[in-house]
Amino acid sequence: MTSFRLNGGVIILPLQKIRMGMAIVMVSVILWLGVCAMASARHQAAISALSGALAGRIIVIDPGHGGVDPGVVGKNDVLEKDLVLAIGQKLALYLRQGGARVVMTREGDYDLADPEITGLYRRKRQDLARRVALANKLPADAMVSLHINSFSNPAQYGAQTFARAGSAESEALARAIQDELNRMLKNKHRLPLHGDYYILRQTRVPTVIVELGFITNPREYRLLQDPLYQSKISWCLYAGITRYLAGEGKSLPLQPGVKGKKTQ
Ligand SMILES: [Zn+2]
Repeated sequence: MTSFRLNGGVIILPLQKIRMGMAIVMVSVILWLGVCAMASARHQAAISALSGALAGRIIVIDPGHGGVDPGVVGKNDVLEKDLVLAIGQKLALYLRQGGARVVMTREGDYDLADPEITGLYRRKRQDLARRVALANKLPADAMVSLHINSFSNPAQYGAQTFARAGSAESEALARAIQDELNRMLKNKHRLPLHGDYYILRQTRVPTVIVELGFITNPREYRLLQDPLYQSKISWCLYAGITRYLAGEGKSLPLQPGVKGKKTQ
C-alpha cells in the first residue's frame, strides 16, 4: 500500500492502482507515438509511390553563398554557407536514390567567380550569373536554391519558399515544397511568396528559393546545425520536388502570397 497526505487527510492508494495508472499513461504515449509514426510512414509511402517521376530528371541544387561570401552569420560563427551545403548534400542523396540526376552548383566552400575577380559585389555578380547559366544550359527540370534567413526579431521562425511571379511552374514547385515543409516541420503555416531575386528572374527552368529557417531564432539556430534535422528538412525538399515532378504542385491550395522585398 502507498499513502499520500493531502490537505491534512490521508489518501490510501493501492500500489496496484498506481502501476495500472502508469501502464495506461505509457500505453497512451506509445499509441500516440505510433499514430505519429504511422502518419509519417503513410506519407513516406505516398511519396515513394511518386518517385518514378524523378527517374532521369535533372535537378540543380544550389547551396547559396560560399567562399568569401558566408551568407548570414549566426552566433559562434555559424555560417549560412556551411548549413546550406550540408542540407544540399543530403538532398542530393535523396534525389539520386530516387533516380534523378543531380547537379550541385557547388560541392565545397567556394564561389563560382574567377579567382582574379576582386570585390565581394563583383564576385557575387559573376557567381550568381554562373549558377543561373549552369541551370539554363543543362537544361534542368528544376532548380532549388537553398538559403538561411535572419531577422532582427528572434521570435521569427519558419521555412519559406519563394517563387518567380508569373511562372506557373516555379509557383507549382514552391507550393509542393512549402506544403511538405509545413506538414513535416513545426513550421508556421506559411504560403509561398513571390520573390524578386536574381536567380528567380534569370533562370529559364522552374526555380525556387527556399529559406530553410532563421539563424536568428534560437530553436532553428540549434536545429539547422543538427544532422537529424538537416536530414528531415532535406526529405521535405525531396518530397516537394517529387510531388512537383509528379504534377501535384499546381493543384495544391497554397496560393503564392505577396512579393518578397529582398533582392539578390
Ligand atoms: Zn542566403
